[in-house]
Amino acid sequence: MAQVLVLPGDGIGPEIVAQAVKVLLALKEKHGLDIDLSEGLVGGASIDAHNTPLTEATLAQAQAADAVLLGAVGGPKWDGMAMSDRPEKGLLALRKGLNLFANLRPAILYPQLTHASTLKPEVVSGLDLLIVRELTGGIYFGQPRGVRTLENGERQGYNTLVYSESEIERIAHVAFKAAQKRSKRVCSIDKSNVLETTALWKEVVTRIAAQYPDVELSHMLVDNAAMQLVKAPKQFDVMLADNMFGDILSDEASMLTGSIGMLASASLNEHNKGMYEPSHGSAPDIAGKDLANPIATVLSAAMMLRYSLADTVNADRIEAAVGKVLDAGLRTGDIWTEGCTCVSTSQMGDAIAAAL
Ligand code: NAD
Repeated sequence: MAQVLVLPGDGIGPEIVAQAVKVLLALKEKHGLDIDLSEGLVGGASIDAHNTPLTEATLAQAQAADAVLLGAVGGPKWDGMAMSDRPEKGLLALRKGLNLFANLRPAILYPQLTHASTLKPEVVSGLDLLIVRELTGGIYFGQPRGVRTLENGERQGYNTLVYSESEIERIAHVAFKAAQKRSKRVCSIDKSNVLETTALWKEVVTRIAAQYPDVELSHMLVDNAAMQLVKAPKQFDVMLADNMFGDILSDEASMLTGSIGMLASASLNEHNKGMYEPSHGSAPDIAGKDLANPIATVLSAAMMLRYSLADTVNADRIEAAVGKVLDAGLRTGDIWTEGCTCVSTSQMGDAIAAAL
């Protein structure tokens, strides 16, 4: 039986994760999904209970599980804390502790939501792109980092953008392999005209591409990529990016799909063990109001079945159920348009579970 650790986290995390759990339990009941769920604390919830965003025990539980399903962490309550103690540190420690170096973020526009996108239908309809983001290296982890006081008394902040060849190689392999199962095109993102680290990124990705002759590789500067994503997003199949560029571009891509509440993500290690979470944050502005869109989290659970539990049939069932519910005109507030029925977080979860 597959062991899954559920970490709801903060803000809307518990509300949206409850819907994904509802869907998994419905699959267990209706279709015999062989899964065992246990729950733990992460982020602000763990700080409140244990004075740390991730306990050793929770990390050990995550390492022992087949997969982790996570909501979101953070919120104004913990914003004043030192950077090293904040809720987000729990997330980074999980990514590091599980060696989750590959972040897969699909941006798929459901045909039913074409009008929920802020872009023109002709620009986004049929959109299906995958952002492969490096997750355990780059400027978010590079040393040295900090804020120091200069001789003249002025404070200076500094971070380090660092990538070794092996880190670039392994994420490039993930992108090329993903492209082989799709439209066989990888666009690698860099800022090689300014940053030496990303010039090395470009060089290494080009070298790895030789092992995938069936995949077409192109390169794009990150500023142009940000522009092209809103100008002509359908030109992309797989976008390969480092940690920070991937973070920013994937949030931008999420808006093409109508709402960040639709965007699932998978973070994998080399053995396909993974952590699955929506791409959005803890949305403190709507937390506790039963307003959040749970679909990104439900679709993250589908990715979990597909990638870590090798259960394509049940993953397909979840995705089809989401499609059915959208066909029926049900929408949470973030994706609502004229003529649709506005539902709460829990009503959306109930409807998806019922549609399985
Ligand atoms: P956010 O993604 O939480 O929210 C951005 C906007 O999108 C808000 O208006 C929010 O209401 C809306 N939104 C997000 N998810 C939604 C959903 N499922 N349904 C409907 N609307 C949704 O980003 P933020 O406001 O920049 O950050 C809030 C907190 O989340 C911060 O503490 C931040 O550090 C944290 N955060 C956590 C993660 C994570 O856990 N992976 C990621 C990003 C931000």
